Order: sequence, then C-alpha cells, then structure tokens
Amino acid sequence: MQDGQLSIANLLRHGSRIHGGAEVVTWTGAEARRSTFAEVGQEAARLAHALRGLGVTSDQRVGTFMWNNNEHLVAYLAVPAMGAVLHTLNIRLFPEQLTYVANHAEDHVVLVDGTLVPLLAKVLPTFETVRHVVVVNGDPSSLQAPEGVTVHSYAELLDGQPDEFEWPVVDENAAAAMCYTSGTTGDPKGVVYTHRSIWLHSMQVCMTDSMALSQADRALVIVPQFHAMSWGLPYAALMVGASLIMPDRFLQPEPLAAMIAAEKPTMAGAVPTIWQGLLALLDQKPQDLAPLGRAVVGGSACPPSLMAAFDKLGVTIIHAWGMTETSPLGSVSRPPAGLSPEDAWEYRILQGRFPASVRARLVDDDGNELPWDNEAVGELECAGPWVAAAYYRVEPGQEGSEKFSPDGWLRTGDVGAITPDGFLRLTDRSKDIIKSGGEWISSVDLENAVMSHPAVAEAAVIGVPDEKWSERPLVAVVLRSGEKTTPAELQSFLSDKVAKWQLPENWTFIDEVPKTSVGKFDKKRLRAAAADGSLDIAHLT
Ligand code: ADP
Repeated sequence: MQDGQLSIANLLRHGSRIHGGAEVVTWTGAEARRSTFAEVGQEAARLAHALRGLGVTSDQRVGTFMWNNNEHLVAYLAVPAMGAVLHTLNIRLFPEQLTYVANHAEDHVVLVDGTLVPLLAKVLPTFETVRHVVVVNGDPSSLQAPEGVTVHSYAELLDGQPDEFEWPVVDENAAAAMCYTSGTTGDPKGVVYTHRSIWLHSMQVCMTDSMALSQADRALVIVPQFHAMSWGLPYAALMVGASLIMPDRFLQPEPLAAMIAAEKPTMAGAVPTIWQGLLALLDQKPQDLAPLGRAVVGGSACPPSLMAAFDKLGVTIIHAWGMTETSPLGSVSRPPAGLSPEDAWEYRILQGRFPASVRARLVDDDGNELPWDNEAVGELECAGPWVAAAYYRVEPGQEGSEKFSPDGWLRTGDVGAITPDGFLRLTDRSKDIIKSGGEWISSVDLENAVMSHPAVAEAAVIGVPDEKWSERPLVAVVLRSGEKTTPAELQSFLSDKVAKWQLPENWTFIDEVPKTSVGKFDKKRLRAAAADGSLDIAHLT
C-alpha cells in the first residue's frame, strides 16, 4: 500500500474542494453571516500567507482567543496546515492561568475577536513571547500594544493575499494543535494533538455508532472551540461536508432558540448545563425544534431527567464521555440493537461504549485490574491513538506525570464500572466522591435523583466534613422559576431512589450553581462557599 500522511492540509484540501458548497454560518445576534467550505479554504490560504509574513515559518504556536465562528474555523485549518501549531486559549480562564498557558506554550501570534479585546488587553502585557496580535472583526486601534507587540487588523492583513497556498507536507505525528486542561492541582496542563490523532479522531466522530456526522448534517457547535477542540466537530465536518452553525458569543438560551429556529440544525453538541438552560426557556416559550434530531451531550454526566425531557421534544440526547486528554471522544452511548425502549434506556443513560481505537481498563487503589461486570468500581484508565501519552513539557517525575501509568496508560481520575459488553458507567470523579463512614456515595447519582424532582432546575452535591461519618453529602438546589419545595420534601422524594444511609441531611437553596470556564458545576467554589459559611444550610435529622 502507499503511504500517505494524515494531515490537516489534506483535510482542508478535501473539504474545500469536494464539499466546497457546505456552509459555515456564524450567528451575529439577530441573523447570520455565511460562507462556504470553498471560501474557508481560500481564506485559510490568505491567513497562512499573512502568518508567514509575521514570522510563522515552522512549528510556532499561534494562539486564538475567540468565540466559535467562521474565522476561528479558518485558523483551525490554516495554522496546522501550514505546519504551525494552533493553541486555542480558553477565554474564561483566570488571568494568571492565561498568562501561564500563553507563556508555557510560547505563543508567537494571538488572534483575538474584536469583542474580546478588553479581556485580552488585561493579560497581554504578561505574555512574554507574543509578538503579534491580530484583531478579528474589530478595531485594532482599540488595543494598546505593549512594547515589542504589533497589533494588526485581520481584514487588512489578509487583504490582497493569494487564495492558494502551497501547503507543506508534514509528518503526521507532528503537533497540529494544543489545548490546556484546567487541572485541579497545580498549573494547567497542555495536551498536544497530532495531525494523525486529529484525522483518526475525525473518522470516529463520523462513524454511525458515534456522533454519526455526515454531509446531510447541519451541526450546531455550541461546545467552545477552546474546549477540547469543540469535541472534534469542526475537523470532522471538513471530512464529510457537514455544514457548521457557529453561535459566536450568543450562548444564552434565547439566541440559541432563535438560531435553531432560523438555521435548522440537525445535530448539536454541548454540555448538560446548556440544555438545562434551553429546556427552562422552552418550558415558558414552547418551540418546535425539528429537524434537530440528536444532541451529543457530555463533559459532565447528563441527568436522565434531561434526556427524558428532550425525548418528549423529539430530540434524542446521545450521552458521551471524554476529556481534553482523549481528543476528547472516549465513549458514546448507542444502545445495542434490538432492545425495547425500556431496556435501551438503561444503556442510554450510561457514559457509552468504547470504540475500537480506545482501550479501557479499570483499576483498584493498588493498581490491580478489575473485571467488567458492571459491579466492580475502580479508576478508569485509557489508551489509544488519540489519547495523550504525556502532558506538554512535563517530564517524568514532575507534577502531572503521575496521570500516566508506568505502562503508558492515561489515568482519567474518573471512577466507575464497565458492563461486560463495554459500556462505561461512571459513578463520579475521584475527587468528587463522598466518602461517608468508609462507604462511597456518588455525587452524580444524588444529583440525578434530586434533578428528577419537578420543582428542581439544577442540583449539585458535594461532600462536607462530618464528625461521625467523616463526610456527608450537601445538596445545593436551584429551583425552577415559580416553584417551591422544602428540604424535608426533597429528602422524602429521594427515599425510594437512593439507599437510606445515603439520604442527604444537608440542604441549601441557591440562585445558581457556580460553573467552571467550560460550563460544568464548579464544585471547588461550592466547597469553598460551604466552608466559609456563606451558604444557608438546613440540617435535617
Ligand atoms: P476539566 O477537567 O477542566 O473539566 P475536561 O473537559 O477535559 O476538563 O473534562 C473531562 C472530565 O469531564 C472527565 O474526566 C469526566 O470527569 C467529565 N466528564 C466528561 N464527560 C462525562 C460524562 N458523560 N459523564 C460524567 N462525567 C463526564
């Protein structure tokens, strides 16, 4: 057989030629602006020429500080295709973390959305290696350049550049893109994707029993491009010619509902909190969601109540599990064929089945492998061609290296069981599990049970110190608007859903669950609030 490099340049050539008519739609508030994959290909060539002019000649890092939009897609393609490395900066990181990641990755250029200039301006003077900032869809004069940094207008920089670029042949194992994951301890950790890993991962995204992305799809990409590469949707779209609907900065329920009405996506990807928000809006303002047939939901456990609510609206939620370190697709929950809806449901609420390229094992505290019997609970470890082998510039023995086993598997920090037929059932993240009197309580199971109460919009559960049991659960509840209930009522609602000893006695009502930079429950902040006494906690006996 011939040898061919699996590269982003080939993906770009393929997508812009064979699927030149596929659309990229960027929401602008009330309406959309549009381009095609053919135009994206030409714009990528212009951007590559412009970046060459700014000194990007080899594998320099080009940062993006951007929403999901047409220009971010152009950067996704142009930067790796020209042999450089795309570094998507998470715009919601704390300033110190942004400084850390930009300096650690040694970004040379940063592309910034006009609306994000004020945010970048605060940290730019601390970016030690950045020499050029390119303002996309905004006024470059609004950014005061620190010494040694030149600010450019994207439009002017690309103006007059050729529509074609001689994309170099790169080794498929060369770095193409990188994302930092917000570690719970220490500094954020860099995960570097290769051309090969992105290509193989894209093929997986398109497989039928995975996200099944195809040229017939219009994919609403809500999961940010700075969060685990938008779950691989942009690259996979180029592979099969699926049109992309990019929400830009309009991520609130109202504009998302408007986008769905106007642009008719057939599939979408987002974390559960986005769907919770949309559901609350649809409760008040019903809307036909057709043809949105499916939504891939992951990033944190999808509450079964959310899945059931969207079933009623005609949208099948497909539960998936993954992490920045796994590109991110790890498992997707497609029930085995031929089951009754009731039996299929038991599979749908699990985190999903591992594909051929992702190997999985469960280990106990002593590192012994556990059986796949849906009973034995241990830490999940993964291996495969799109699973990280190490963090960027973290040497063996340094903080972060412990996430990789001596035989090279990724220790996920997720705890759960696996069914004999390879479905993952996560019970918790190891750091969120509540250790009560020597037994483990799954915070996720409790959350799901509380969230199935009709008055509850959201519920987050954390462990709080307890003299007798060492830890006990505290439930922080957000009520649906106009609804009322009491801790005692909620506790009795749980009595037939969880074991008696797990019934939480500590309850608090809050306006909103604090969220992390990527929209997950921020249990660190909730724990801090519980510890400093700022929550009004009811203790039932
Ligand atoms: P962060 O650690 O900053 O949240 P990631 O986005 O990489 O960064 O998060 C990966 C983690 O998200 C997983 O290790 C897991 O704990 C959680 N996760 C992802 N998908 C699911 C899911 N379907 N169910 C439960 N937890 C999930």
